[in-house]
Amino acid sequence: MELYQSQNLKIHNSLSGKKELFKPLNEGRIGMYVCGPTVYSNVHLGNCRTFMSFDMIFRYFKHLGYKVRYVRNITDAGHLVDDGDDGEDKIAKKARLEQLEPMEVVQRYTIDFHNILQKFNFLPPSIEPTATGHIIEQIEIVKDILDKGYAYEKNGSVYFDVAKFNETNDYGKLSGRKLEDMIANTRQLTAQNEKKNPQDFALWKRAEPQHIMRWPSPWGDGFPGWHLECTAMSTKYLGETFDIHGGGMDLKFPHHECEIAQAEASYGQSPVRYWMHANMLTMNGKKMAKSTGNNILPGEIFTGENSILSKAFSPSAVRFFMMQAHYTSILDLSNDALLASEKGYHRLMEALDILSSIVPKGVSDFDVQAWKKTCYDAMNDDFNTPILIAKIFDAVKFINLLKDGEKWINASDLKELQNTLNAFVFDVLGLVDKSDNADDSDKLSGVVNLLIELRKEARDNKDFETSDKIRNQLDALGIQLKDGKEGTTFSLS
Ligand SMILES: [Zn+2]
Repeated sequence: MELYQSQNLKIHNSLSGKKELFKPLNEGRIGMYVCGPTVYSNVHLGNCRTFMSFDMIFRYFKHLGYKVRYVRNITDAGHLVDDGDDGEDKIAKKARLEQLEPMEVVQRYTIDFHNILQKFNFLPPSIEPTATGHIIEQIEIVKDILDKGYAYEKNGSVYFDVAKFNETNDYGKLSGRKLEDMIANTRQLTAQNEKKNPQDFALWKRAEPQHIMRWPSPWGDGFPGWHLECTAMSTKYLGETFDIHGGGMDLKFPHHECEIAQAEASYGQSPVRYWMHANMLTMNGKKMAKSTGNNILPGEIFTGENSILSKAFSPSAVRFFMMQAHYTSILDLSNDALLASEKGYHRLMEALDILSSIVPKGVSDFDVQAWKKTCYDAMNDDFNTPILIAKIFDAVKFINLLKDGEKWINASDLKELQNTLNAFVFDVLGLVDKSDNADDSDKLSGVVNLLIELRKEARDNKDFETSDKIRNQLDALGIQLKDGKEGTTFSLS
C-alpha cells in the first residue's frame, strides 16, 4: 500500500477558489505542468520562489508514493517584451543588444537557471521541453482552432477570437474577470490594428523581415504566440486533461486564461483539474524590480556580493527561509528575516546531529505517532510548510531535552522520529545537511583574502612571478580577482 492511500490531501484550486480534496485522474499517477522561465536574463529570486514551491509540491507527491510526470518548460521564443502581442521578442531583443545569436542568449541563461536551481537543491523535472522544439505541435493547434472557428487570420498572423469563444465558454473564469468589464476598460483599437477586439490574442504572429526567430507556416513565416507553447507541450506530454497546472500568481491573467481558452477551443474540454498559483516575493516591504534597485540575484546572496545584505547566505538557509511561508502568501525578504532563518536552519541541523547520537532508554516521553500525524496533517492542508516547520521544531525542543537527559525515548520511537524527520527535512522540504553552510563560505573568503594579501606583498616586492601565480591559480579554480581603487576583491564563477 502506498502512503497516499491513507492521506487526505487538500489543494487550493485557483479555479474554484476553494480547497478541494485531491484525486488524480489516474489512480497513483500525477501529471503536473509548471510554466518555466523565459531565458533572456539571470533567473529572478522571485521566480526561484515559485519554482521552489512546486519543487516542494513535487517532492511531497513523490514522498506519498505517487508516480509523477512533472513538466516544466523553457520559453525560448514567442514571449514579447510587453507580455502581450506587441513589442520585440524578449530573447531576440537581448540578442540584438548583446550582438549574440538568440540561441546563445537561450543557452547562457538556461545554464544560469539550472545552475541556481541546482544550488537550491531542486529535483529536475521529468521533462523540460522548449517552445522552439515544439513549433510543429503549435502550428497544428492553430490550424485546429481555425478549423473550429475560434480564430481568424489577418495578414499572416492568426488571432484567437475571444468574443466568439465567450459565447459558448467562459473567458475569465480563472482570474475572475468578465469580458464585458474588460471591453469597457480598454481603449478602442487603432485603425491599423489587425485584431477584431483588443482582448483577442495572437496564436501566430507574422515575422517582419528583421525578425530573426522565424518558422514557415501555412500563413507565411512567423513565430508562435507566447500562450500557445504551454498548451502544446502540456497536451503532448500530459494529455488533453491533466491534474495540476502551476505557475506564479502573475501568470493567471492573461497567460493561463489564454491557455484555458486555447485548450477548450481545440479539445472541447477543460485542460486542468487543479490550478495552483504561488505568490510573490517582496524585499524590504517593496516589490522587487531591477528598475528601482530593489533587486537581488540568487548568486549575489550566496557570494555576499551585494549592497543589501550584511553577509552571504547559503542556498539552504535561503531555501529554509522560503519554506517558512505558505506558498500562497506574499513573502518579504530582509536581512533580519534571513539571519533568523539561518539561525533556525542551524538549530535544526544541530538537533538532527544530536539525535543520531542519542541512546534509547526507558519509556518514551514523546508521542511520536501523534506528532508524525500532525506533520502529515500540515502538508495535507494545501502543503502548509510553515505549520510543518513549527511541528518539526516541537521535535527539536524534545531532542534538546533528550540531550540534557531530562527526557527519554525508546528504540522504536527513536527510529521512527529519525526517519520521519529525515523524510520531511531532506526529502520534502529539500534542505541539505549543514556541510553546505555559510561557515564554509566565510572560511573560503578568509582564505582568498589571505591570498590577496600575499599577492599584494609579492607585487610590492616586485615578485611578479608569485603574484601572477596566485592570480592564475585562483582563476583556474573559478575565483576571479578584480583590482580596483579600493583594493582587490574577488568573485566566484
Ligand atoms: Zn505557461
